[in-house]
Amino acid sequence: MSQIFEDWTRPFSVRCSDVGLHCNCVIFGMSENKVMNGTIVHMFEYHAIDPKEMTSEMKSRIKQNIKASRVTVRVQHALPKLF
Ligand SMILES: [Zn+2]
Repeated sequence: MSQIFEDWTRPFSVRCSDVGLHCNCVIFGMSENKVMNGTIVHMFEYHAIDPKEMTSEMKSRIKQNIKASRVTVRVQHALPKLF
C-alpha cells in the first residue's frame, strides 16, 4: 500500500530557438536547474555542441530564457506508507 499525494506545479521551459538555434524544441523541467541540464544534453544530442565547448555566453542565454510556464500541471507522488 502506498499513499498518493497530489501537487500542482508550474514547470519551467526554454525554447531552443530563443537560445539562437534553428530548432523547434522546447525543453521542460520541474526546476530551472533541470531545464538547464536538459538543454545542455539536448544541445549535445541534437546540435552536436559539446558541453565543454559551450561558451558562458550561451549558458547565460539559456538561463535568461528559462521561463515559468503559464500552465500548471498536476504531479502525483507515491510515498511508501509510514504507519
Ligand atoms: Zn534544439
